[in-house]
Amino acid sequence: MTPDEFRAAGNAAVEWVARYLEEVEDYPVLSRVEPGAVRAQLPPMPPESGEPFEAMLRDLDEIIMPGITHWQSPNFFAYFNGNASAPSILGELISAGLGTQGMLWATSPAATELETHVMDWLAEMLGLPEAFLSTESGGGVIQDTASSSTLVAMLAARERATGFTTNQTGELGHLTAYTSSQAHSSVEKAIRIAGIGSENLRLVDVDAEYAMLPEHLERLMLEDVAAGQTPAVVIATVGTTSSTAIDPVGRVGEIAHRHGAWFHVDAALAGSAAILPEMRWLHDGVELADSYVVNPHKWLFTNLDFSALFVADRTALIKTLSVLPEYLRNEATESGAVIDYRDWQVGLGRRFRALKLWFVIRHYGVEGLQFHVREHLRLTRLLSSWVDEHPDFELAAPVPVNLVCFRHIGGDEANQRIMDTVNASGEAFFTHTKLDGKLTLRMAIGQTYTEERHVRHAWDLITKAAATG
Ligand SMILES: *Cc1c(COP(=O)(O)O)cnc(C)c1O
Repeated sequence: MTPDEFRAAGNAAVEWVARYLEEVEDYPVLSRVEPGAVRAQLPPMPPESGEPFEAMLRDLDEIIMPGITHWQSPNFFAYFNGNASAPSILGELISAGLGTQGMLWATSPAATELETHVMDWLAEMLGLPEAFLSTESGGGVIQDTASSSTLVAMLAARERATGFTTNQTGELGHLTAYTSSQAHSSVEKAIRIAGIGSENLRLVDVDAEYAMLPEHLERLMLEDVAAGQTPAVVIATVGTTSSTAIDPVGRVGEIAHRHGAWFHVDAALAGSAAILPEMRWLHDGVELADSYVVNPHKWLFTNLDFSALFVADRTALIKTLSVLPEYLRNEATESGAVIDYRDWQVGLGRRFRALKLWFVIRHYGVEGLQFHVREHLRLTRLLSSWVDEHPDFELAAPVPVNLVCFRHIGGDEANQRIMDTVNASGEAFFTHTKLDGKLTLRMAIGQTYTEERHVRHAWDLITKAAATG
């Protein structure tokens, strides 16, 4: 593709995305294709000779689009939002255009320095403790997902618990880990991969609001110590995936510290809300954390992938993950004056993701970001009040951030039918969870383009589906 051909195709591609964002509201939110339907339309063998870009855009419209679920639709209320924005899309485009590899400072100094700078900005914006700043003992690093962020933290926790010997010897001893029964599945996955093992992961009970019970945590840790185990790590969640429950971070952190365990805080979704002064309380107790994760790719308008991991002591992470082969040796690294982010993650290669958040923060400004997050919270409270006032519906959990968990009083079958009816309409999409063994509907409000009229319409669809049962 010559530069001129690229310019023409590139303009067409940007035009395609712009039109998509204009029209996304009108698409059926949940894809309706049957399994295998997309592949059945693709040629079994790759083309022998090259094709024009228009042919690809045509197939994109005809074959791919019916198989897309529209996460950027303002009518998307499922799972947790993964919101994007125009400045983020442009950052992604330019990052791809540069095609740079930021594994070491030396392989693209600006990629590393912008990442360090933007992560320090993010720490300030979210009111995170000073120790997480690169100018202090810690620092932030961009990972692909919260799952990777938590994995990397678990590896550092494991090494610290064994005096940084497991990497060499492969010996673990008897390490144990603790999290609540409501923790995200990525915690168990990380504990497995780190070699600690699911059987050594203790699930702490929760209270009536689904938050971790510190007394139970303490009891489990004492029992393990008495049995000769070494508590290695405690994971608290700020905003659980089921119901956005908030663990008592301060009390959990104190218990973790008392037993010498690494303390990790998973705030993948809810952490972004701390950009608002009135929501800073979400980070109460985070000053006790050894590591902390938040996903700007959920609720800070920065498209996947962008997970922000912060550590209070970067040395522990680097000691855990650094292996320096001869072919990567260079003067800057040896001088110790630079950060090599390859030592902060599992992979070696890394994309220039800092551009995305840099563009987002500069486009919106902190005020602009606060405006949109605050509006999401307002809409969530509004929906929660409608649920509360409706005689046939009830709230199933507190609503601390941007998720409403609710039920029709008619039981599991009625709720399943309401959800299926609304989702099949294509006009809105939401999902469910189980709380107290009961099917619970959940709507997360955090899509970039969601306005009050979209939430109102979704609620109308729900109440109508309930009435015609
Ligand atoms: C979404 C979420 C995760 C997983 O995030 P990924 O980036 O998809 O790995 C983990 N924990 C919590 C609390 C989440 O909300």
